[in-house]
Amino acid sequence: MSVIGLEIHVQLSTRTKLFCADAAEAGPEPNSNVCPVCLGLPGALPVLNAAAVELAVRAALGLGCTVHERSAFDRKTYFYPDLPKGYQITQSALPLATGGVFEGVRIARLHLEEDAGRLLHDRFEALTAIDLNRAGVPLIEIVTEPDLTEPPTARQFLVRLRRTLRYLDVSECDMENGTLRVDANVSLAPDAPRTELKNLNSFAHVERALAAELERQRAIASSGGRVAAETLTWDAETGSLRVLRRKESREEYRYLRDPDLPPVHVSSNDVARIRAGLPELPAARAARLAAAYDLPGYDIEVLTAERALADYFEAVAARVPAKAAGDWIRTEVLRWCNLHGSGVDSVPVSARDLVDLIDRVARGVVSRTAARTVFERMADLGIGADAAIAELDAGQVSDEAQLRDWVERTVAENAAEADRYRRGDGKVIRYLMGRLMKISGGRADPRAAQALLRARLEA
Ligand code: MN
Repeated sequence: MSVIGLEIHVQLSTRTKLFCADAAEAGPEPNSNVCPVCLGLPGALPVLNAAAVELAVRAALGLGCTVHERSAFDRKTYFYPDLPKGYQITQSALPLATGGVFEGVRIARLHLEEDAGRLLHDRFEALTAIDLNRAGVPLIEIVTEPDLTEPPTARQFLVRLRRTLRYLDVSECDMENGTLRVDANVSLAPDAPRTELKNLNSFAHVERALAAELERQRAIASSGGRVAAETLTWDAETGSLRVLRRKESREEYRYLRDPDLPPVHVSSNDVARIRAGLPELPAARAARLAAAYDLPGYDIEVLTAERALADYFEAVAARVPAKAAGDWIRTEVLRWCNLHGSGVDSVPVSARDLVDLIDRVARGVVSRTAARTVFERMADLGIGADAAIAELDAGQVSDEAQLRDWVERTVAENAAEADRYRRGDGKVIRYLMGRLMKISGGRADPRAAQALLRARLEA
């Protein structure tokens, strides 16, 4: 038994920062997207970005939280070189939203805050450089109750959370570029001292670090020691944890209401409008697709991983059997995406064109084997199914002379199997047909070819 709570920081996909008009993107050069506000210069005043509030409310509603009409910003004081003002503007006493439930885990709170800058250790020898492009970028922090009990479940929760936030279009949620960051609090029992794990830079590392930390805490407990409330950092390279510092207490942050910012007001009309604009979320979508189509649960999971992918699947499955639609998308379409490192919205084969190709296979114009090459050609040239079939000359061949030629080659190259057939092993015909289809480059009309093959073997 263990007790795990997560704190997830998500960078909102706004154009500008939370309290000033600088671009929120990483920036072409270090310290290029900065101004007196995010540099913390004396006299500069923050102005709240309404687009960030809108996205935060979307996220909160998507996670089943209650959005409060009135919330407020506080100053969280700590001294660190990437924090120019000496405090972070966050929401402490009055968060934007509380009390959600997502995937069976209670969400304690969801609040808005600004990000800090970045320390760069690889630019100058023996010196640390500071890039403040990220200072002031809008984040939401999502804090769960300690409802998770096992490291693999924590990982699964994060996968689902990321999928939902991406459906909501609030963030890219990419751990590699830091738009999603996870800290974990973990203890052996609800009343036992807990530690905080930082620097968990992939979901796999979250799981591994939690398992390692639980192991460490159990070892301390079983040797009669006491776990100290500390912050540990995960070293992915060595797969080990290192104590970073003793955990700060709340008092040390000296929270104080930010006098430069008025309270945040989100009216019930705003909430209703944003709620009405929410997309169908992945859990609901997966349930609906599972009810509508006779597909294995795993296929549904894959097909609903991204909103655009589910849209694509539904557009194709509306016009051809769902099984074929699902198979083509899980293999050919996703292969293209993996190869090009991009999402389904940049696949050059439209849902309509894929429908045409699946239809040509069903009608016997092109074999399933040859259709794979046709798909690749469609994607490479951005052309339709018929154009690609013509271009590749991949149409099915029923010409008898050509088919006889392939039959002869098949028999010659597979003499042993041909003999087995003649001696009465009828099942071997499937193997021989497989060879024949391969020899023909997938183009042989299978029915005509099989008739000729049988006739040849039985002659
Ligand atoms: Mn935070």
